[in-house]
Amino acid sequence: MQAIAKLKPGPGLNLIEVPVPVPGINDVLIRIKRTSICGTDIHIYNWDAWAAKTIPAPMVIGHEFVGEVAAVGSNVTTFQIGELVDGEGHIVCGVCRNCLAGRRHLCKDTKGVGVNRPGAFAEYLCLPSSNAVKVDPTISLDVLSCFDPLGNATHTALQYDLVGEDVLITGAGPIGCMAAAIAQQAGARKVVVTDVNPDRLALAQRMGATRVVDVSKEKLPDVQHEIGMKEGFDVGLEMSGNPRALNDMIDNMAHGGRIALLGIMPERAAVDWNKVVFNMLTIRGIYGREIYATWYKMQSLIQRGLDITPVITHRMPFTDFERGFELMRSGKSGKIVLNWEV
Ligand code: NAD
Ligand code: ZN
Repeated sequence: MQAIAKLKPGPGLNLIEVPVPVPGINDVLIRIKRTSICGTDIHIYNWDAWAAKTIPAPMVIGHEFVGEVAAVGSNVTTFQIGELVDGEGHIVCGVCRNCLAGRRHLCKDTKGVGVNRPGAFAEYLCLPSSNAVKVDPTISLDVLSCFDPLGNATHTALQYDLVGEDVLITGAGPIGCMAAAIAQQAGARKVVVTDVNPDRLALAQRMGATRVVDVSKEKLPDVQHEIGMKEGFDVGLEMSGNPRALNDMIDNMAHGGRIALLGIMPERAAVDWNKVVFNMLTIRGIYGREIYATWYKMQSLIQRGLDITPVITHRMPFTDFERGFELMRSGKSGKIVLNWEV
């Protein structure tokens, strides 16, 4: 089969021929239909310090996908050949205290598909059947291929009650834009999204932000004043990974405000802790998705009208992956979907 792999340490990726994986007794073999490119894949492409210490090259990469069951292991009774499935890309140990208590998203030994083990940018992917998720075939394949990041957006946005609350989202990347739409659907009063990239801000506007803010040109206190806010934001969703954005957020929260932190900061990024203390802010780190509560919630959100299609800006055959990665690296795209049925 054909697959996109990191062959050796260093920048770049290659389209190569590898054997179709053989499912173990508890696995499903998935014939991939669509994949989408994640920021993590760009880190792997670029071979930054994180990728160099994490990715066991040579390895097939990719973790955002949808496909259909092509074969099942002898122990697997819950999936049929031909069923449409997505997959939870975090493979957990099943035996640590959190796993045994049903909190699998808090497993201490999580392994990532396409990060620590072979990934989904391939014609076939093998996955433990407990990680495959049946999905509604009336949802478009392109949207289904984005369920992994939609899950990050859902898991983060729904950490706190949003009904009637003023929400600040820092970072209008694909995840921030999806979170804006979720916050609107969940009943937020105002949803303000910041970025420094005008294309991304235009996308956030299309996704239903009340007001978008280019923080290189405008200041959040002025924007609060303009839209009639007097006391700061009730809920903050940090989705940029930029320390300046986190500090902007901390500076503009209401007393008692609650922050969910998804963006991955540079090591030891600094914040003004006394603002957290004196304003009694809550900051909660967010990782991945809740297994499988987030999956139930996001499928239901889509079935009830959440539209994330504006975030998908490009679609192309997998053989054009170099162009897709180039576009993604330029910052001039939202999600890019690769079609494996060509
Ligand atoms: P992305 O890189 O596409 O988007 C980040 C956006 O932040 C960009 O549009 C960028 O222009 C913007 N930005 C930069 N500086 C800013 C500033 N000062 N103020 C406001 N915005 C600013 O990322 P994404 O794919 O949408 O993911 C969002 C973040 O979540 C990333 O940091 C990613 O690494 C992280 N992430 C975390 C998890 C997790 O499990 N915790 C999972 C997926 C992604
Ligand atoms: Zn575990």
